[in-house]
Amino acid sequence: MTQTAATATFESLNPATGDVVGVHPVHDAAAVDAAVARARAAAGWWAAQGFDGRRRVLDQWRGVLTRRMAQLADVVHQETGKPHGDAQLEIGLAIDHLAWVGSHASKVLGRKRVAPGLLLANQAASVEYLPLGVVGVIGPWNYPVFTPMGSIAYALGAGNTVVFKPSELTPGVGLWLADSLREVVPDHDLLQVVTGHGDTGAALCRADVDKIAFTGSTATGKRVMAACAERLTPVVIEAGGKDALLVDEDADVVAAADAAAWGAFANAGQTCTGIERVYVHERVYDRFVDELTKRARSVHAGTDADAKLGPMTMPSQLDVVRRHVTDALARGGRALVGGEGAIGDKFVQPTVLVDVPEDSLAVTEETFGPTVTVRKVRDMDEAVELTNAGHYGLGSSVFSASRGPEIARRLRTGMTAINSVISFAGVAGLPFGGVGDSGFGRIHGPDGLREFCYAKAVTRTRFKAPLNLTTFDRTPEQDTVVATLLTALHGRASQLPKRPLRARRDRRS
Ligand code: NDP
Repeated sequence: MTQTAATATFESLNPATGDVVGVHPVHDAAAVDAAVARARAAAGWWAAQGFDGRRRVLDQWRGVLTRRMAQLADVVHQETGKPHGDAQLEIGLAIDHLAWVGSHASKVLGRKRVAPGLLLANQAASVEYLPLGVVGVIGPWNYPVFTPMGSIAYALGAGNTVVFKPSELTPGVGLWLADSLREVVPDHDLLQVVTGHGDTGAALCRADVDKIAFTGSTATGKRVMAACAERLTPVVIEAGGKDALLVDEDADVVAAADAAAWGAFANAGQTCTGIERVYVHERVYDRFVDELTKRARSVHAGTDADAKLGPMTMPSQLDVVRRHVTDALARGGRALVGGEGAIGDKFVQPTVLVDVPEDSLAVTEETFGPTVTVRKVRDMDEAVELTNAGHYGLGSSVFSASRGPEIARRLRTGMTAINSVISFAGVAGLPFGGVGDSGFGRIHGPDGLREFCYAKAVTRTRFKAPLNLTTFDRTPEQDTVVATLLTALHGRASQLPKRPLRARRDRRS
């Protein structure tokens, strides 16, 4: 993007030090429209490259990203405050997804033959998935590479060009990504970045884009959907979560506590699929709490070399965390580690809360800080019920030696990790997304590629049909043949069952 299109600028800051990291233009609606028009102009060229041509470009980009990973990690570290190693990890995962996109797009989206059925046996039927054109991506700041790349890489791999609006907290990361792709393809606007605040994102929703892939909070997701509705622009909403971890009586308790600690505190708890609630079988509760608190005390947030947690990237999140912890304690909860005193003016120290009522903010709303509630349950039925009572449904984790898959299937979340946390996000072939207030649509995997396409169905007449159904010349005799054929094909299926159907079936059975 050229700076001339903007009228104002804003600064991105290092949240740990307050230092200015960069100054960026606030792109207005005209600038956004211009970027989308350039993306539209490039879309035909990009689609015409086909799967092989696109794969070559994406592979070259992957090489650039890999070779300059440390440089990009620096930008992420500066804009989010997260440790360099954590920044490198999210970049590595994004690179792995990019590789998957390059090598799988053709197989997932390419033309496939479909059986035409007996009535239309003279037709050759096929389906393929064609690019939509221009995709607008709106991303958050917490994983400023991995999260938007879940949309950007898949949209590009499917043959679309992209206009990306990064969070106002991490514009430098977005620009770095676009610049690195421009090194590979300097002459076509495959990936452009527009910078600014919420208004810039809203302008992108109202621009001439063919789809919006939004990742952010549920509240903003609703605003994005409303804006997109004006033009009937389809959306993917990857919104917040309140993920639970369930620990069964036969679980490896040490492994479960270790996973809970990492799931709750890593990235200072600013992870959409972070663990915010834990439900533990009463037989292993005490042991689990011992192990978890030990780990919570062993990590801290800060800027020193030993700090495994960075600052709260968005200063206003400190108030949310404080409100949730204060509410939990006021309502009978206890802080075994951390608590109100753990919330500073930039950093939050790990906090483990117990005896917190299920209808308190720390259990029902997304906290997005390094805090976790732990509750004793009588069995896994109760744990499943409490997990599913929430209005979010992004991810979940189950620790159980014998019942993992069974419990996982009963959890109303888009993703579940058994005997680990968040591992589903790193498996490129798996879809990523949630249900309920966590949004809809999927990034990653075959579903993530198809999300940025439209299905194109084609039938081709192979030979003259003995029975032409789509003509006014159809005779009563032919209608009789059709009726006979249909009866032979489907008549038995329409017979009433001997026993009455059960009134209501378990939807999850
Ligand atoms: P926000 O919802 O505040 O912002 C997300 C993006 O939307 C930002 O780029 C923001 O711009 C932009 N935006 C703000 N207002 C509008 C608007 N009216 N129209 C269009 N765009 C707008 O989320 P955060 O950045 O605070 O990210 C944290 C949230 O993201 C958490 O809830 C987290 O759970 C969720 N998340 C979900 C993931 C998932 O895959 N399900 C993954 C990662 C995070 P600006 O920053 O400039 O205001």
